[in-house]
Amino acid sequence: MAPFSSAPEWDKAVSAIAESSSVLLLAHVTPDADALGSALGLGLALESMGKQVQVTVGETGFTTPASLSFLPGTELIRTPEDLSPVDLVISCDVSSDARLGSAKPILEAAPVSIAIDHHPSFTGFGTIHLVDPNAAATAEIILELIDRLELPITKDIAGAIYSGLTTDTGSFKYQSTTSHTLRTAARLLDTGIDSAKLSRLLFDDEPLAALVMMGEAVSRAKLLPDAASGLGLVYTSVSIEQRPGLDELAVERVIEALRKTSEAEVAAVLKQADDGHWKVSLRSKTSVNVGLLANQLGGGGHKFASGYSSTVDLEQTIAELIDSLNAVSNN
Ligand code: MN
Repeated sequence: MAPFSSAPEWDKAVSAIAESSSVLLLAHVTPDADALGSALGLGLALESMGKQVQVTVGETGFTTPASLSFLPGTELIRTPEDLSPVDLVISCDVSSDARLGSAKPILEAAPVSIAIDHHPSFTGFGTIHLVDPNAAATAEIILELIDRLELPITKDIAGAIYSGLTTDTGSFKYQSTTSHTLRTAARLLDTGIDSAKLSRLLFDDEPLAALVMMGEAVSRAKLLPDAASGLGLVYTSVSIEQRPGLDELAVERVIEALRKTSEAEVAAVLKQADDGHWKVSLRSKTSVNVGLLANQLGGGGHKFASGYSSTVDLEQTIAELIDSLNAVSNN
């Protein structure tokens, strides 16, 4: 089991930050608002301590995705080819070092690195671990770290952290939402952030082409009532040709429509990446552990939300998914 955070780990993290003068924050590849919002929120807080701060994602030529360009602190973002040396590296929401992408050697070369994460599948890379699988979002752990550093929560820091929190809880709908999560959200709202605007930009803002692509993806969906040991699977796929003019990120939200299907415990979206291989997003409702399934197939995630990359073609990916799902649902 991965080592989860304890009081000594918190002390080590606070000391490592105090002793550093330059910090690099890493979000996982194809970052979501929890990964990037956590990195930017913490980055802004560390900058207020007088640290030199850089934020990146280990993708060649990485620049801020348009869908997350409203996050506060994006001025801290650099492409990975453009970084200055630092004395501390901090990963945010990264469950395995593979998810660091091209930034993996940077973290490995750092004398001190802090991994901040909330995935139960966290693999244990880095020298200091702030990992809490009970946290609804990495953003929740970031806020605790900023508190332990005794730094003020500005409106910008709050906006970045709130974006992570509301994304990973599906607007405070998912099982991971606790009274602590809601108290955290209340505290962030008290800084004066425009939560309605953030929610609209995060959840309810799509170009028409993306909505049409999603509608077509849903219309192609197949329901397999006998899959997942009779609990039901609904799935669809989106090839490169089926998303003309749209990037990979535009397909991320198809799963949010498909997971509503009453007749299926599990929803899956198979997405063809720009390089041609297939990525699978999974959601379950109450009983099937899709995090375990994704782990077995080389991916990761949470009990009710996970993903993995496939190395075979579409047809084989579907067959493999159905087999694995039956195995996971049986125990
Ligand atoms: Mn997260």
